[in-house]
Amino acid sequence: MPRERIILLSDCQSFYASVEKAAHPEYADQPVAVGDPTRMNGIVLAACPLAKSRGVTTASRVGEALTKCPELVVIRPRMGTYITVSLLISEIYQVYTDLVEAFSIDEQFLDVTGSLRAFGGDLPELIHSIQQHVLLSTGVWTRVGIGPSKILAKMANNFAKKQPGGTFRLDYDNLDTELWPRPVHEMFMVAGRMTRNFYRMGITTIGDIARMELGEFKQRMRRTMGKQSDIQAEYYWQTAHGIDPSPVVTGIRHQMKSVGHGKALRWNLYTRLEEIEVVLLELVIEVCQRARKYRYMGSVVSVAVVETDGNTSNSYSRQTTLPEPSALTHEVAAVAYRLFVDHWTGMPLSRLSITISELTDDRVMQLTLFDDRIRTLGREQAIDQIKTRYGSQALIRASSLLESAVALERAEQIGGHYK
Ligand SMILES: [Mg+2]
Repeated sequence: MPRERIILLSDCQSFYASVEKAAHPEYADQPVAVGDPTRMNGIVLAACPLAKSRGVTTASRVGEALTKCPELVVIRPRMGTYITVSLLISEIYQVYTDLVEAFSIDEQFLDVTGSLRAFGGDLPELIHSIQQHVLLSTGVWTRVGIGPSKILAKMANNFAKKQPGGTFRLDYDNLDTELWPRPVHEMFMVAGRMTRNFYRMGITTIGDIARMELGEFKQRMRRTMGKQSDIQAEYYWQTAHGIDPSPVVTGIRHQMKSVGHGKALRWNLYTRLEEIEVVLLELVIEVCQRARKYRYMGSVVSVAVVETDGNTSNSYSRQTTLPEPSALTHEVAAVAYRLFVDHWTGMPLSRLSITISELTDDRVMQLTLFDDRIRTLGREQAIDQIKTRYGSQALIRASSLLESAVALERAEQIGGHYK
């Protein structure tokens, strides 16, 4: 029996605002927000606790925030600095364990199962040292969720924010008292629409899900959300029980130059754009998913084509630069589609491949997201998680059910060319 893991999710409080407050000691006692001070319509990216106590909320308009809190100091974001500080904080965590995984710009997982003993064996003391180390080095206060799985560490972190010491622990033997009484929307991955679905099912707490037999929960989900909901039911049920075997993985992505996928096609089946675009979308989905897995965004999209009329064949590759790096399916798909349509001679296809290159760290991109791109990224990462846990057939686009789709077929290829 493997020993239980000790996983931490360490989150930086008001990250950008904390970095700015550390850089500007003259504002130490003033409410500080990060946003564009010249654009009243712009978004508040972060607010310090003092500003929050005066009604300033993240993602509100700068103008609104100034109305609520006229003494608010609004500081223009310095993305490069936040990335540098985030990487510095990673390095600090790596003093305490080599298993550190970035979850977002200001949240990282640490697996200290193997290293705790080297630091004296006292977990609260170790966590306190880490918090102090980060605070003294960067001026940023961190809150730490503790759990035997990543999902429990993540949910514990939400509760840690309200604790004076900034830590909270969820364990398999305290779930019934610490997690299950909580409202269902506090469960990971449950947003507004899902909350309403659960309410319609009579589910108001996390325990309402956990205490049900999985089979019964699936049936009730089906009645409310249709036949396709089994995978989701399983995901939520496991989450309510804190089941999440995924390991904390360190970056193994440094050498990657590009992410691509290709598919040989039976050319007589791919003669029309409407058939080809289905495959094109599937390839983009796979490319983007893999890029996100390694926390990459690409700036250049390439489409490589082999066409044939059965006698002669013709191959070419075309590429274009995106306005901003992306691993968002709809953005890459739109560009890849345009590229293909602009250069396709109309002959049937015997091979198609899509590649993104000029890769950058997606944490850099997250900092520049002012609109709903960040929400889209979050949604796509959520889908990735479900696919990682349940296989790539767990969620597929409706278009993949069309005859020309190859995603299902490819999902079954093991050790093949594409995996
Ligand atoms: Mg934070």
